[in-house]
Amino acid sequence: MALNLPLDPIQRSEEAEKLVMRGESRSYYKFRAAPYYGGIATADAIGCSFLCAYCWNYGRNENPARFGNFYSPEDVGDKLLEISRRRNYHLFRITGSEPILGEASFQHLLKVIEIVFQESPHAKFILETNGLMLGYRENLADQLKFRNILIRIAIKGVDPGSFEKIAGVRREFFTYPLLALKYLENRHIRAWPAVMEDLFSVAEISELRKTLRENEIIAELELECLEPYPFVLENMRKRGLSIGG
Ligand code: SF4
Repeated sequence: MALNLPLDPIQRSEEAEKLVMRGESRSYYKFRAAPYYGGIATADAIGCSFLCAYCWNYGRNENPARFGNFYSPEDVGDKLLEISRRRNYHLFRITGSEPILGEASFQHLLKVIEIVFQESPHAKFILETNGLMLGYRENLADQLKFRNILIRIAIKGVDPGSFEKIAGVRREFFTYPLLALKYLENRHIRAWPAVMEDLFSVAEISELRKTLRENEIIAELELECLEPYPFVLENMRKRGLSIGG
């Protein structure tokens, strides 16, 4: 079923959480060794508060109930650790989705991280998030004070208008990922913003850097590259987006 955009991402989080969580278990569709970051044990989950035009997991995140199987935190931790042992990886992540939709998914995530660090104390866990819930509920940051957790916040747009068009959610929520960065920096938790460089001009990226500075966010901006799958380009076209802004 196609969704009416732009969404209210808080409401969408609640709806998605109900569909992708069963008790402590979350819906995943794949576990794999991925080449990113030089090699990382990866769990592909389902369910997001946004519906980004360029999401490579668009179909599953649009209709989360139709896909995936439910795994407990112990199942997920074991699968990730098995991949890391086989490939001699020291990096871990959950991707393809928003890891933090609500309390149940947040507790699931914390347990997975704990299990990984118990077995592999020198590992690093890269938390890839859109930053909505971390900006909406400041107290969540207090529970993320793991020594080796690195948090990458995809901020989607360079301003409220581009954010709404790209993320498919209402423009007033543009500030939440920025707040998340601030809350994490205040707690000395390593976090940085990322944006899809291909969608913006040099001047727009420069304006974004200015906005980050004005919001006292000191972390370096990561510039991501678009994976131009045909369905991604088609979804972007439908939203009036193109490479180069
Ligand atoms: S935030 Fe990430 S997982 Fe969610 S829709 Fe956007 S690209 Fe996909």
